[in-house]
Amino acid sequence: MTAPVIPTAGPYLLANARLHRSLTPDLKATFDADGFALADIAVADGKISAIAAREQPLPTHAIDLTGRIVLPAFIDCHTHIDKGHIWTRKRNPDGSFMGALNATGEDRAARWNATDVAQRMEFSLRCAYAHGTKAIRTHLDSVAPQETISWPVFEQMRERWRGRIELQAACLFGIESARDFVWLEMLAKRVAAAKGVLGTVTYMVPDLDELLDRMFGHAIALGLDLDFHADETDDVAAISLKKIAEAALRHKFQGRILVGHCCSLARQPDRDVLDTLDKVARARLAVVSLPMCNLYLQDRRHDGTTPRWRGVTLLHEMKARGIPVAVASDNTRDPFYAYGDLDMLEVYRMATRILHFDHPVADWPQTIAATPADIMRLQGAGTLAAGGPADLVIFRGRSWTELLSRPESERVVVRDGRTIERVIPDYSELDALMV
Ligand SMILES: [Zn+2]
Repeated sequence: MTAPVIPTAGPYLLANARLHRSLTPDLKATFDADGFALADIAVADGKISAIAAREQPLPTHAIDLTGRIVLPAFIDCHTHIDKGHIWTRKRNPDGSFMGALNATGEDRAARWNATDVAQRMEFSLRCAYAHGTKAIRTHLDSVAPQETISWPVFEQMRERWRGRIELQAACLFGIESARDFVWLEMLAKRVAAAKGVLGTVTYMVPDLDELLDRMFGHAIALGLDLDFHADETDDVAAISLKKIAEAALRHKFQGRILVGHCCSLARQPDRDVLDTLDKVARARLAVVSLPMCNLYLQDRRHDGTTPRWRGVTLLHEMKARGIPVAVASDNTRDPFYAYGDLDMLEVYRMATRILHFDHPVADWPQTIAATPADIMRLQGAGTLAAGGPADLVIFRGRSWTELLSRPESERVVVRDGRTIERVIPDYSELDALMV
């Protein structure tokens, strides 16, 4: 089974592509129990000109994909490419959340000049692009004075990668820093100037409601979307997801709100959970789960015992209530997660196993494509549709079990109708930054 060869010029037809119902809204076909149907994708001028159910006979000029799965290019809506790949010089001493926070803070203060941040960001973006991702939202540590270093680097990277990866950024700082009104206002204006997203990490501080009001106030005044890290802990007293929903309702917020992690929700009594989810649905919050990072940090034990829970939040219950849910990479090779390569297929494979995105698969594939595209306000991304860009990934797998059992290292990534050269950078390129 050799890789399909896409012509380097002119229109073409990809025949016998296996497409998923949840990511091809316009396809009229008979879908199998796994949600797949065979279809032909016509490509011209970098766009999908038509998608039609496979019918006999096969046109002689067609490229026969022999039933390979084709997915839209991935959307990764929660990453930290400013932190990425520092592991070699700054590891997590004990695998805990506090270990991660402290180690990263030390590395940031000592090493994160513009060159260091830019080179590590570039490495991450090359990985993501080669794996088939077309849009990324990164959080940027914005604890003073880092915001003055990382935001200009982000703006340069966004320009440099335009047309290959659509890059977004959200600021990140502990919510208690919002007590400094002058600094917060300055940061919010800096974020707005960069067309970024206003973000923070919530903790259960006594004045959380008041500080959330400040965040919402700036977001409304400046027309910004919001992005929170919330409740990344097993502490049942961590209820900031509910607090964020209440704040959104209190402010009648009209922008988009994405909330990441929400781990503690899975540890709370059902009655509390249902009350929170009612509010989250009414406030139109979206939630992103970070299954690999959660599995790594949550329930980490130092008494010689084995972790007993998976760390992820309640995506099934959320989706059942119509709350938009996504999964994403989160950290890569830094003290918050020692592994990872910004490969959304790996994220989906792990999510399938950790979160049970199977039996049935249903519309869970939307969590790495259509749903995060909507959260990030990306038009024409995350689905395969006539008139949309021919940004897609062709796999060897012809079923979920084939797709999710191997790394799919030989996948073919097509962007604007043409095969990209997939070059995954060598780690040795980072060696000079690690000494
Ligand atoms: Zn994160």
